[in-house]
Amino acid sequence: MKFTPLNETCYYFDAVVNIGYVHHGDQGMLIDAGIDDSIMRKVLKELKANELPITHLFITHAHADHYGGAHFLQKKHDITTIAGKFESAILQHPTIEPLYLFQGNDPLPELHNKFLEGKPIQVDRVIGEGEHTIDGFTFTAHLLPGHSYHQLAMQIDNILFAGDSYFSEAQLEKHKIPYITDADLTLESLLRLLSIDCDGAVPGHGTFEKDFNQTVEKNIACHEEIMGWLVKYITNAKAGVTHETMVSDMCAHFAVENSMLSSWLLYRTAVTAYAVGLIKRGKIDHYMERNIWKFRNIQSQPN
Ligand SMILES: [Zn+2]
Repeated sequence: MKFTPLNETCYYFDAVVNIGYVHHGDQGMLIDAGIDDSIMRKVLKELKANELPITHLFITHAHADHYGGAHFLQKKHDITTIAGKFESAILQHPTIEPLYLFQGNDPLPELHNKFLEGKPIQVDRVIGEGEHTIDGFTFTAHLLPGHSYHQLAMQIDNILFAGDSYFSEAQLEKHKIPYITDADLTLESLLRLLSIDCDGAVPGHGTFEKDFNQTVEKNIACHEEIMGWLVKYITNAKAGVTHETMVSDMCAHFAVENSMLSSWLLYRTAVTAYAVGLIKRGKIDHYMERNIWKFRNIQSQPN
């Protein structure tokens, strides 16, 4: 984990899950908190070694790898915690994440793990998109849904802390089917990212780039390619395809092998997100047949 300066006030901890830091006088704000106590211990040690204050925390979205270290931080320091609406509900009641992934059923014990559920935290300021001044920090919160319901990227001192609104090329290659909740919203958010004027961006996973538009374009191309494949796949299934088979076939096509329920649930959501995006675009149709949720080509609908 490398503590990297970006300009006079902005830094980031370059790690598996990046953590931003902004220093204004006697105040210091972390952007995201890493996955657990041990990550936060390292962050606090580094800030202390550099004699930098820690007074505020901003959480981009309520995924455990971005807020899991926040409980420990709140225990050790008097922190003002800021998060977007909706995401803040999950931060305060983290069981909601395994609950929604498990389609609303009470999660099985194995789903209560640190990758899907952090410890609950207190949120002091719940915000929406737009300009905000909170104590010594003036920033713009950009609403970028599609990966998480109300994800907010923070633009401050001309640096964009983007959360998971886009992924590094390496992440795209690693996951093959990136985790999203709605492909249509994801693409809208990526286009919005291209219009943000700033000196560079820190993604949740990957490295800071001055010119991050190329990486955003690669994200767009990746999602379009997956959607293109899915339309062809559904078009070729003349009798329609069940949701379950679509998840299995798409994972097989992209060489994704899930041996654990928890990782399969994430991929099920991602595959469904592409189908949802195509329904919204009017490219495929969905229907019920003998209590099975199915998808078909738009042309194969009866008149
Ligand atoms: Zn995330």
